[in-house]
Amino acid sequence: MRVLERLEELYAIGGGPGANRPHGSPAEDEAHQRAASWLADAGLEVEVDRHGNLFGHARAPASGEKVSGEKVSDTVSDTCWVGSHLDTVPQGGRFDGALGVVAAIEAVERVGAGSVVVFRGEEVGCIGSRALVAAGGPVPTAFLELHVEQGPVLAERDAPLGVVTGIVGYARGELVLEGRVGHAGTTPMVGREDALVAAAAEILRVRDAALAIEGAVATIGQVAVEPGGVNVIPSRVRLSLDVRAPDVARLDRLISEVRFEPSYRVEPAQFADAAPRAVRDAIAARGLPAIELPSGAGHDAGILASAGVDAAMLFVRSLNDGVSHSPDELSSDEDVALAVDVLADALAAMTR
Ligand SMILES: [Zn+2]
Repeated sequence: MRVLERLEELYAIGGGPGANRPHGSPAEDEAHQRAASWLADAGLEVEVDRHGNLFGHARAPASGEKVSGEKVSDTVSDTCWVGSHLDTVPQGGRFDGALGVVAAIEAVERVGAGSVVVFRGEEVGCIGSRALVAAGGPVPTAFLELHVEQGPVLAERDAPLGVVTGIVGYARGELVLEGRVGHAGTTPMVGREDALVAAAAEILRVRDAALAIEGAVATIGQVAVEPGGVNVIPSRVRLSLDVRAPDVARLDRLISEVRFEPSYRVEPAQFADAAPRAVRDAIAARGLPAIELPSGAGHDAGILASAGVDAAMLFVRSLNDGVSHSPDELSSDEDVALAVDVLADALAAMTR
C-alpha cells in the first residue's frame, strides 16, 4: 500500500531511533519537500504560505462537471482542507502527523476535490495553524484530520475508527506550599512545618479533584523543593499543574476545585457541525461502530475549530496500549487502509 511505503520514507528522514523531525529542523524541511513532490505527482497545485504551511489544491471542477462519477452541484467548494503535520517529537513514532498527511494526499487525489494541508510545528504548540489563524486566514470552511488515537480507548472498545467530539481545554499554573526551614537532625518531628509533607497531601488532593469530574485529568509533573538540601527541612515547594477537561464548565469546575490561578489557559474546542457528521456517517456506512471520544491532546483541528472552521477528526486505533510519541507507536495496516477509505468518503461528502 502506497500510504505505508510513504510512512516508511518519512520515518527514515532525520535518522533513528524513531522519527526525528522536530520543528525547524532540516528533517522537517526535507519531509515537507518530499510531501510537495507527492502532491505534484497527484496533479495537485502546490503552494507554500508565508508561515511555511504546505498545500496541494485540487483544481476546482466547474459546476456540473463529473467528479468521481458523482454529479457535482452548485455548492461545490474546494475549501475543504484535509491534512495534519510532519514535524515530530524527538524519537517519535511512525504515524503521529505523518499518517494524516499521506492519507490526505490519497483522499484528495481520489476524490478530486479539496486541498491537502501540511501544517508546520504542531508538536511545539500548533505553530503553523496558529500563525495562519492569527494572520486572519485564509481558513477553509471545513477541515478533516485523520490521526492516530494516541490512547487505548478504541482498542478497548474493539473498534478500528472513532469520531472525535472535541479537544479538551487545559490550564496550567502552580501550587506553592510554604513551611519553615530547619535542621534535619535537631528539629523534632512534632511541630515541624515541612512544606514537602504538605505538598504530598496536595498532590493527592489534586488527583482526587480530577477523579471526581468525568473526563477531567490533572497532572503534577514538576516538584521544586527549596532550599533543596538533603539535611534541610523544606521551606517552600512549587508544584506545576496541568489540568484538562472536555468542556468549559468542567474546566472551570476543575480549576476552582484544584484551587489555583491559571497562568495559561486554552479553551476546549467542540467538533459538532457537518464535518464530524460526515465522518460519523462514513464510518457507519461501512458497518463499523462510530465510537465518539474526545481528544486529550491538542491538534491543528482544534485551532481551526476555535477560528470558526467546521472541523472534524477521525481517529484510528492505536495498538501497544495506545503508546505514542515513541517508536513503539503502532496501528495495523488494515486499520490504516480503512481509515484512508473513510477519510476519502467524508471528503467526498463534504465537497459534493
Ligand atoms: Zn500529531
